[in-house]
Amino acid sequence: MEIEGYCVKCKAKRVIEKPTAGFNKRGSAVVFGKCPTCGTKIYRIGRTKLHDGMEAPKK
Ligand SMILES: [Zn+2]
Repeated sequence: MEIEGYCVKCKAKRVIEKPTAGFNKRGSAVVFGKCPTCGTKIYRIGRTKLHDGMEAPKK
């Protein structure tokens, strides 16, 4: 599954390498992974297909 994120080093959108779905402290859906071009960490906020079936953790 291809999830795009913005790489701050390349200053361009990249398809995130090994995207991992999760949730941040506020319970927002996030995806993190690596830029396939330069290896910089990419972190994007927003629900994706990777989050299907996942529920935000309750406090
Ligand atoms: Zn990059």
